[in-house]
Amino acid sequence: MTLKTETDALLAQLGVARGAFTGGGMASFSPITGEAIADPAPATADEAAAAIARAKAAFRVWRMVPAPRRGELIRLFGEELRAAKAELGRLVSIEAGKSPSEGAGEVQEMIDICDFAVGLSRQLYGLTIATERPGHRMMETWHPLGVVGVISAFNFPVAVWSWNTALALVCGDPVIWKPSEKTPLTALASMAILDRALARFGEAPEGLAQVLIGGAEVGAALVDSPDVALVSATGSTRMGRIVGPKVAARFGRAILELGGNNAGIVCPSADLDMALRAVAFGAMGTAGQRCTTMRRLFVHEDVYDTLVPGLIRAYGSVTVGNPLETAALVGPLIDGAAYRAMQSALEAARAAGGTVHGGERVAIGPDTAFYARPALVEMPDQTGPVLEETFAPILYVMKYSDLDAAIEAHNAVGAGLSSSIFTTDLREMELFLSARGSDCGIANVNIGTSGAEIGGAFGGEKETGGGRESGSDAWKGYMRRATNTINYSRELPLAQGVVFDI
Ligand code: NAD
Repeated sequence: MTLKTETDALLAQLGVARGAFTGGGMASFSPITGEAIADPAPATADEAAAAIARAKAAFRVWRMVPAPRRGELIRLFGEELRAAKAELGRLVSIEAGKSPSEGAGEVQEMIDICDFAVGLSRQLYGLTIATERPGHRMMETWHPLGVVGVISAFNFPVAVWSWNTALALVCGDPVIWKPSEKTPLTALASMAILDRALARFGEAPEGLAQVLIGGAEVGAALVDSPDVALVSATGSTRMGRIVGPKVAARFGRAILELGGNNAGIVCPSADLDMALRAVAFGAMGTAGQRCTTMRRLFVHEDVYDTLVPGLIRAYGSVTVGNPLETAALVGPLIDGAAYRAMQSALEAARAAGGTVHGGERVAIGPDTAFYARPALVEMPDQTGPVLEETFAPILYVMKYSDLDAAIEAHNAVGAGLSSSIFTTDLREMELFLSARGSDCGIANVNIGTSGAEIGGAFGGEKETGGGRESGSDAWKGYMRRATNTINYSRELPLAQGVVFDI
């Protein structure tokens, strides 16, 4: 069976109408073989405008539905996702090139955020605040915000949307999703699953959750519309540099989840066996195409010659292959452009004095597929390509002698997403987690930089954009806060002792 035939069958099983993914002219490929698997139609400007209008009307209804009732929709969505996990996970693997375990793991993440959001629907708490005025009460209330536009990247084609959607719907906001143009099929399938939950729920307004297939121009329709209260955009820092200022110029709200240049520090006291395994997964897993992929590693000079040769051996022996037909740990790059970006970064690293291990193309399947052996690059310094995110499996390794200097170097890049330290020394650990330690949104100890759980707030600082999604109190980004002061006395005392007697 070709991937196209299997994709057709999966989409039919998942309830996507054939007309939604054929004959539309926007070619969609599987990175596993590079073959075309569908051609859905991109949304036109008129369709985008109509979707925004529908969502705006849906907001007027949905905001008045009690939050625990909104949570019931997400509970049903979680049930539908459980029922469709195998098929949707397989489709994620076909469309994004992930291993079956990672494809299924991505759907599990959708289920997890649904569980979280159902509980959240009864916990949209505000504070009661002490007031200086007698006979007064002060509190804050959280209200639905408005239409949420979700723009997502190819590498987590469904999980990121679900993080946003489960929270936004519970918070009372309609959602319009513009998935990556590289992964439209998993988006259509996810929407079909949510549509089943909506049908069972029965009382949701039309236009509560919609998908718009297409490229940057369709995303721009959401970014530019004053009727989209919040734009949650996940992707490259390049994209965020365009989207962020446009949303800010119309005083919209943005959650930006952008590129990372994540690093680990291996201290002399580290459990080196554990560090090796954590670095290998963090740097090579998902073929280096996670926003949290480990891209830089600082190794203390006392353990460099023990750890790094072992890592180089792991890079030489890791299995690269078709993730659907083999148990390979490293699958394909998303496309030829990603492969070329990898090669030019390696070229630049050599020019900057780096020693490259691996990185070559591995011939698997037709030449429309791009598989590469992950590259470990020993660098004399943090220069040139080390300072930038290249979205491919390249790990730059550098030696350090002083932890303060290593932390300084760790923080001396534009991005600020994820970080980790490997140590069994309490002082080193606490320093790394302290105000003068890692400057990232995620700072880990004795685990790699990737593989976050939905319970924590996810996101990063600096050029990663500052947004937070998923767990903790990230829900506050999807609501507006009102501070309320209530006077139940017969007097009118003014705050700060101000007198205004008329
Ligand atoms: P990308 O920036 O090329 O595209 C991301 C999305 O933005 C796509 O849907 C695209 O169509 C849209 N887009 C691009 N330009 C736009 C514009 N001007 N206006 C509106 N929409 C626009 O990113 P990609 O190649 O799909 O994904 C890889 C990148 O995403 C990496 O940099 C990775 O680190 C980042 N990423 C970050 C996170 C995070 O949570 N921080 C998560 C996943 C991926």
